[in-house]
Amino acid sequence: MEDIYCFGGNPLDRVSERRGEREWIAALLDAPGTRVLALRDLKPLIRGTAVPALDWQPVAPWRGQIEAGATLIFLGIGDGCAHFAIDATGANFAPDIDIELIDVRALAPAIPTGEAAILAEARSLIDWHARHRFCAQCGSPTRVASAGWVRRCPDCRASHFPRTDPVVIMLAVRGDRVLLGRNRRRPGARFSCLAGFVEPGETLEEAVRREVREEAGIRCGRVRYLASQPWPFPSSLMMGFLAEALTEEITVDPQELAEARWFSRDEIREMVARAAAGPDDPARVSLPPPLAIAHQLCRRWSRELDSV
Ligand SMILES: [Zn+2]
Repeated sequence: MEDIYCFGGNPLDRVSERRGEREWIAALLDAPGTRVLALRDLKPLIRGTAVPALDWQPVAPWRGQIEAGATLIFLGIGDGCAHFAIDATGANFAPDIDIELIDVRALAPAIPTGEAAILAEARSLIDWHARHRFCAQCGSPTRVASAGWVRRCPDCRASHFPRTDPVVIMLAVRGDRVLLGRNRRRPGARFSCLAGFVEPGETLEEAVRREVREEAGIRCGRVRYLASQPWPFPSSLMMGFLAEALTEEITVDPQELAEARWFSRDEIREMVARAAAGPDDPARVSLPPPLAIAHQLCRRWSRELDSV
């Protein structure tokens, strides 16, 4: 089995072949065990602050919002019951001192991986609906269909589907060293893997080689896929690679990176251990936290689990 990182390992059966059956979805909404997760401004309702947990609620308190047309998404079936997400942005709901809203990025490491994966699914879809209210083909307002997995245009009949943006993220490897960069926009001394969006008409391997050359001036040869991670900010799929660096001299793109450096395996091991132990002095050379696939790619390489 492959490694599962944060936002991966979604335990729900999405039953995608039945999403378009209105009667079936209506019956699920009437079933006693059905659970609803509300997000407000893309933040989930949370119960309990010491051990935070997603606040799964019954359908009843949300019935009015659903009938008023709030975006409702069928997430899937798990533990014998249906799970839905609702966009509660702007909704009036009874204040509850035990409920609060937490940013997904801050919450994800504190909840089980499977719950974080469901949250990623809900956040990406609700965000997609909020930003795709009009038909890209003719400009008319579109309507939600297939339990939240399609938007249809009543005028030109076009169907619009939620998108996932492919992002390649990589470690360029030269002998016993790997290349990391420090982003211009991020303060402090945080180094990470280079990464970028895949462009139209490009293979994943070509995107990897292009990003490393553009950002650091390094040419790469062999490229090997390692692992992927859904990244719901707003809707990317991070795909991790090792790339064989053919050259060594770094020329950074000053628009993207403040600095790029080669790091030895011992340095990476030490940085992985420090990042896993918790927040560090921002002035120290450091890696992203375990939540990020960049951390996991560095961890795997530092343990000599992977070679290009
Ligand atoms: Zn249209």
